[in-house]
Amino acid sequence: MSLALIIPDRPLQGFITALTAELPDVRLQIWPDIPAPDEVQMAVVWRHPAGSLTAFNQLKAIHSFGAGVDAVLADPALPSLPIARIVDPALTQAMVHYVHTVVAMYHLRMDLFLKQQSQSLWKPRSQRPLQHICVLGLGEIGGVVATHLAAQGYQVSGWAARPRQLDGIRTYAGEAEFAAAVGEADLVVCLLPLTDATRDFLNAERLAMFKTGSLLLNVARGAIVVDEDLLAALATGQLSGATLDVFRQEPLPVEYLFWQHPAIQIPPHISAVTNVVTAAQQIATNYRRLLAGQPLLQQIDTTRGY
Ligand code: NAP
Repeated sequence: MSLALIIPDRPLQGFITALTAELPDVRLQIWPDIPAPDEVQMAVVWRHPAGSLTAFNQLKAIHSFGAGVDAVLADPALPSLPIARIVDPALTQAMVHYVHTVVAMYHLRMDLFLKQQSQSLWKPRSQRPLQHICVLGLGEIGGVVATHLAAQGYQVSGWAARPRQLDGIRTYAGEAEFAAAVGEADLVVCLLPLTDATRDFLNAERLAMFKTGSLLLNVARGAIVVDEDLLAALATGQLSGATLDVFRQEPLPVEYLFWQHPAIQIPPHISAVTNVVTAAQQIATNYRRLLAGQPLLQQIDTTRGY
């Protein structure tokens, strides 16, 4: 009985402690030190090296260490096994808090005032007219974010692949309704998963459907936005600003144009970080279910890619 953790470049001690407390009798093997690959029944992965899962000939399931599974599915040698992901109220609440804070920052023009402070400039302005917010992706996180924003008094529209009903939210579904979903929004929050269908989705054509002068907050994945098209939209004023938590390449290279752009805010992928204690609880539950022959909780649909 063994669980492998393939989570490169992250301090893991807190997670190992939490997982050991949940599964005291289970042998944890931490990549790249895997002395007994034939004992591994489940692998917990985050940006795992492609091909690394082929070492386990008794592997029965794969668990993402985060909410997203795009990096798991990107492995061309991925074994055809059930894949689960983290769905955690603590993670969702962290995202709600983050989106709320960025919306408030823009609403109160804190982005402008911080810039003015760096120039010793005293120039009061009234609040930004920010009333309507659109949330792209109404899943476990996006649905809660949209509901929270509506409870704050914002007018909220939401967009998903399939029709959804959410109290207080005007919902839209599918490509044909995208323009209507974003067209009135002063700020668009992206909470879509990165899949074949959403890669490069926010391109020039779709950014042109946004309300002129609107703001973009991308807390999903960098590759959903076409960077050059975003820069062009900012240059023409089609968009007036963007907060980007996620990027095609992370860490964002020092020479990248985004760093110096006056209308782009760059928090370094910190919007909602996996909580190691609650993640360990969910992963331990799924491991026990696997051993008991029960289906995993929070399994993804590999054909849809999320
Ligand atoms: P989820 O529960 O799987 O929900 C995904 C939502 O996106 C669903 O509403 C889905 O529509 C919609 N969607 C998927 N493909 C679509 C398409 N082609 N067109 C329109 N809508 C589409 O995912 P989640 O747990 O809310 O998480 C969303 C993403 O947030 C994750 O995949 C991850 O990449 C990102 N995330 C980022 C951070 C961070 O730190 N920056 C933290 C956590 C999560 P249906 O409802 O119709 O299926």
